[in-house]
Amino acid sequence: MLSEFDLIKQYFQRPRPGHASTVLGIGDDCALLQPTPGRQMAISSDMLVEGRHFFAGADARMLGHKSLAVNLSDLAAMGARPTAFTLALALPEAKRDWLAGFSAGLFAIADAFGCELIGGDTTKGPLTICITVFGELSPGQALRRAAAQVGDEVWISGTLGDARLALGAYWHEQTLTPEQLALAAPRMHMPTPRVALGRLLAEGGLAHAALDISDGLIGDLGHILAASNVGATLDADALPAGPVLATQDQALRRRFTVAGGDDYELCFTAPPHQRQAILQAGLACATPVTRVGTIDALPGLRWVDSAGRALDLGLRGWDHFTS
Ligand code: ADP
Ligand code: MG
Repeated sequence: MLSEFDLIKQYFQRPRPGHASTVLGIGDDCALLQPTPGRQMAISSDMLVEGRHFFAGADARMLGHKSLAVNLSDLAAMGARPTAFTLALALPEAKRDWLAGFSAGLFAIADAFGCELIGGDTTKGPLTICITVFGELSPGQALRRAAAQVGDEVWISGTLGDARLALGAYWHEQTLTPEQLALAAPRMHMPTPRVALGRLLAEGGLAHAALDISDGLIGDLGHILAASNVGATLDADALPAGPVLATQDQALRRRFTVAGGDDYELCFTAPPHQRQAILQAGLACATPVTRVGTIDALPGLRWVDSAGRALDLGLRGWDHFTS
């Protein structure tokens, strides 16, 4: 039988990588972080609940990856450099196989992004994973939701919709070939946080506002528009569909690029004179970037097709209490 403390020691406490920002890691009542002088801390939490954010019985290694990835995605959307994270874990039982897989997936992405596990809490209960991430950035550089300006262009990183398409296949809403599902499913289980792009946008002063798309573009962009007190016109046919969604019909392409979910791509706004610099930033971090519309003074979100004709899509984003 694994005790709570054996569990922490065996699966979550590791030799210290010696990151400059961590003075004290796991094992005391608090961890101690030393921020770089003159920099600000960016902090965010995201919780994953079994049956709500992932299927019961989901692969532990992929879950470890996704739990941290969705948090790193919030740092990316702010333009922050990840430094550390805490892990609060409720587990129905202490199963070695599950813990080994989960911690392997978690530490693989943590190491890839130089983000150290510095503490947490472990309890028995329905499987719930709550991570808080810490990052840092220079004052005035954060990509805030309230910073979009009239005349800005709206950009999307990567591609949209393949995660939602994979979910649709699991729900038997859509039929995918095994090859298509094998291509789309990692977008749902193993999202890639766009940390390098977010940092280039923030540190280069290239973008004004940004957020990460987790609940569908239409709802998430709405947060930027409301916070910035502006509107936008977007070309539904310019939205970059994932490679599998791109092979589907136009109605489904529009539905899942506009109002999919679990994309973890960045949506950001930037003045037109930064166009070339943004394309360069995308190339520099091997992350495609696509211009999809403009910010207007008129409040609300308007959709057009590739010929500029107005579209009424009748779609909305995901909301945990009303969807
Ligand atoms: P407390 O009693 O103060 O809540 P705990 O006994 O729960 O402390 O935890 C002991 C140490 O282990 C603390 O440093 C805590 O941050 C760390 N810890 C607990 N659970 C985890 C976890 N799941 N991952 C990483 N560190 C953890
Ligand atoms: Mg505790």
